[in-house]
Amino acid sequence: EADRVFNFAAGPANLPLNVLKKSQSELVNWRGSGMSVMEMSHRGKEFKSIIEKAEADLRTLLGIPENYAVLFLQGGATTQFAAIPLNLCKPDDPVDYLVTGSWGDKAFKEAPKYCKPKVIWSGKSEKYTNIPAFDTLNQNPDAKYLHICANETIHGVEFKDYPTPRNATGILIADMSSNFCSKPVDVSKFGIIYAGAQKNIAPSGVTVVIIRKDLIGNAQEITPVMLEYKIHADNNSLYNTPPCWPIYISGLVFEDLLEQGGLAEVEKKNKRKGELLYNAIDESKGFYRCPVEKSVRSLMNVPFTLEKSDLEAEFIKEAAKEKMVQLKGHRSVGGMRASIYNAMPLAGVEKLVAFMKDFQARHA
Ligand code: PMP
Repeated sequence: EADRVFNFAAGPANLPLNVLKKSQSELVNWRGSGMSVMEMSHRGKEFKSIIEKAEADLRTLLGIPENYAVLFLQGGATTQFAAIPLNLCKPDDPVDYLVTGSWGDKAFKEAPKYCKPKVIWSGKSEKYTNIPAFDTLNQNPDAKYLHICANETIHGVEFKDYPTPRNATGILIADMSSNFCSKPVDVSKFGIIYAGAQKNIAPSGVTVVIIRKDLIGNAQEITPVMLEYKIHADNNSLYNTPPCWPIYISGLVFEDLLEQGGLAEVEKKNKRKGELLYNAIDESKGFYRCPVEKSVRSLMNVPFTLEKSDLEAEFIKEAAKEKMVQLKGHRSVGGMRASIYNAMPLAGVEKLVAFMKDFQARHA
């Protein structure tokens, strides 16, 4: 435990130490069942209690209204890029995508197989550093939904509020993979919220889909059973063998977040960490730079570059020596990226900031 590093990876990412320890203490014999969660029948009463508690706690955390279903699925957020149009559209239906980074772009690129998507705004020409004013968006009134990526993991662009869908159905859909449960969200504004787990809530293997119930049940004929929301909703996410272990860990994380006082408290901590790091960048007199427009900077993924870019490899190497790892930026943008999800303690950010100042003093 003393040898643990501060892990700034974008995902899979750090998990709360108390959750890891709790799972360790229950690893070989879960609460007197005589077996590990990994060995249980997904249809037994033990696992049933685990998945039901996880759902109930998530509902409390996010204040999920009764008319929304919560699904625990497989295939990652990437599978949802296809599942969403398959479940919500006919092949000729138009849909709108607002593209603020690589993930929004990937979601868009999967859609033409199943519907008629259009990019109504893209930040690509500005290297994905901003989000447009919502009233300038040219939304298609006939679109079946408007899709956004609420937090772009690679580019560090985060929606602080959300556009109002001006389409016929009024449906807004958000990929919240990398800021899920990092702050309160008004679920009722969305038709679907979905998130791969491996950043804020669990190891990889489970994807949470929160969907308004009236949107379930109109899938295209060709929809594979594993992608059909109705199948999973009717079977409480137990149509086939679910990812039992990641669901169990997500449940422990939800308990931990509730114990911390819920998402408003969690958001306060995340704001404090984010401010600390962004201030260090902004006050470095250009030694460090964050390209993202200030009003939309992500509190989860902080990309930055060095003015002297030839020092970047040295920065990453020295930081790793001091047990701060995975700071290399995504290969598509270069530079550095510090992912500071819920589980990153303030001490980790403080240590990084102290290191940045020291590194600057030595190399300015
Ligand atoms: N959306 C976002 C915002 C992501 O960060 C990622 C993964 N980095 C994905 C989608 C893809 O998720 P998965 O690997 O679970 O398919």
